[in-house]
Amino acid sequence: MMEKQNIQDLLSAHGIRKTTFRVELLEVFIESKYGLSFKDIKDKVISTKDKVTIYRALDAFLEKGLIHKVPATSNISKYALCPEECSEETHKHDHAHFICNQCGNTFCMDEVELPVFKNIKGYEIKKSKLTLEGDCPDCISGTDQ
Ligand SMILES: [Zn+2]
Ligand SMILES: [Zn+2]
Ligand SMILES: [Zn+2]
Repeated sequence: MMEKQNIQDLLSAHGIRKTTFRVELLEVFIESKYGLSFKDIKDKVISTKDKVTIYRALDAFLEKGLIHKVPATSNISKYALCPEECSEETHKHDHAHFICNQCGNTFCMDEVELPVFKNIKGYEIKKSKLTLEGDCPDCISGTDQ
């Protein structure tokens, strides 16, 4: 687990104002194996339950390259921690996402690289997304999460 000090450094490195809540929020993302919805986050954090505070922090984290949106089964938004190299300027992901059909969790598949497509006549490809579906290791082994 990451030390509190490292979490604070990570916030500073991304130009995010440090508050008790933001440190806690980042900790929640670091500890989670899968993408979190607003409700998941609200249930997990204890230093605030204020919706506006949570939304503002999520916006800041998104903008500064700490978290990214991940696909989910329903149309609720889910967020996950970004790879280390993300920043405000280079916020791009070339990893696939995996949605588990049993628990409904979304996992970042950092080790699965996206195929590279050549530009198709007249179209300029700027980004591609790959979402895989199936059963996650925890559901396969029947472990409680
Ligand atoms: Zn990112
Ligand atoms: Zn699962
Ligand atoms: Zn991801």
